Amino acid sequence: MSVALRILDDGAWLSVNDQRRVSVSELWRLQAPEFCECALVDFIAEGFTEVSADGRDVAVTTYGKCIACGESGVPGRLPVGYIHRGEYHGYDRENIVMEPINSRAAKNQQ
Ligand SMILES: [Zn+2]
Repeated sequence: MSVALRILDDGAWLSVNDQRRVSVSELWRLQAPEFCECALVDFIAEGFTEVSADGRDVAVTTYGKCIACGESGVPGRLPVGYIHRGEYHGYDRENIVMEPINSRAAKNQQ
């Protein structure tokens, strides 16, 4: 039972099993102190470049910007949902604080 993860339309959509699940221009709150100076980043996603299934998380490498301070770039791989028993479930992205997987891993090593 495998799940097909794909980026469509030049990075505008994440598709899971041929269903469009996550689109750019969603507003996400990030705990990403390396991205900009804001305590929480008000991040608007502008494009996806890569998707990976990382353990249970489905994570997209996303570029975009902080609408509070204007900083733009790639904060890391952002977990948008997870796979459970071969099915994709999206996180409640508008109501959680996301943490880029890269910085989460770095913190665990300390
Ligand atoms: Zn900012």
